[in-house]
Amino acid sequence: MNKMEQPASQRPPENPGPPEFFQGLRYNSISNYLKDHFGSKTIKLSIDGGFTCPNRDGSKGFGGCTFCSDSGSGEFSSDIDDQIALYYRKWPEARYIAYFQNHTNTYAPVEELRRKYFAVLADPRVSGIAIGTRPDCLPDDVLDLLEEIGRDHFLWVELGLQTIHETTAKSINRCYDLAEFDRAISELSKRNIRTVVHLILGLPGETRDMMLESVRYVASIPGLFGMKLHLMNLVKGSTMAVEIPDHVSFPDIDSYVELVTDCLEIIPPSVTIHRLTGDARRDILISPVWSFNERTILNRINDRLNLLDTWQGKRSI
Ligand code: SF4
Repeated sequence: MNKMEQPASQRPPENPGPPEFFQGLRYNSISNYLKDHFGSKTIKLSIDGGFTCPNRDGSKGFGGCTFCSDSGSGEFSSDIDDQIALYYRKWPEARYIAYFQNHTNTYAPVEELRRKYFAVLADPRVSGIAIGTRPDCLPDDVLDLLEEIGRDHFLWVELGLQTIHETTAKSINRCYDLAEFDRAISELSKRNIRTVVHLILGLPGETRDMMLESVRYVASIPGLFGMKLHLMNLVKGSTMAVEIPDHVSFPDIDSYVELVTDCLEIIPPSVTIHRLTGDARRDILISPVWSFNERTILNRINDRLNLLDTWQGKRSI
């Protein structure tokens, strides 16, 4: 029997109720966590550190992950000052986390990384940094630098795993295996570095059970700081848009919302949730066409959690 098909009698016991720290939500959103942690609204700024990607230049692979557009999954990056100017009028007291998002943000000599990270941390408006990278781009000197930053600054590292299934990983040209991911998790954990893992729901060829299996695998990482569940958006400029132009990850919003609800139930309440939707810009989004309205998707997820009287971690181990 597939381990995702446990009969009800073998399921872990239900938690007694939504923990208080969910603050009215039924999942542990990163925005609530940051508000608690810093004592005021905290906004993530998308930073382009000028890095490239080893999965495009041949050092790990060519062509990039097939779902990724040319911009390296950072469609919204712009200057820090411009972004803060946009937020300042509405939230003059806000604090900011600078998110190195475009491409692979540990893919450079360690002294260059040090210079770029500390330049951003020197900005008094910035309360911490988040760094998006690949598990196979964390050599020891970079891990040591991250550990050093984490001792004095608020830091988390984001790893794009997308799936635990090797067949899918090959088909999307991820160019590293699960053992590499496990090694990175272990090294980051040894150094007490907060880690966020990305998964994509709706990759070509994946069944519902396969997606839940990936979620369960990541959710069982001891001490994991956060997870991002991305809705698979087919976007212009990606290899997938050329190879599988008809791919539609979920036919409608209901099927996606049902799956996300099931995912949340198996994620421990301590894990912060950083994303439950896709983030493709509307002008490059090909499918699913219903997915451009992030607020509607989040409202529907909240509605379903309320309707079923369920919450993040209700069935976590
Ligand atoms: S998803 Fe990340 S690792 Fe993959 S091609 Fe894009 S930037 Fe590179």
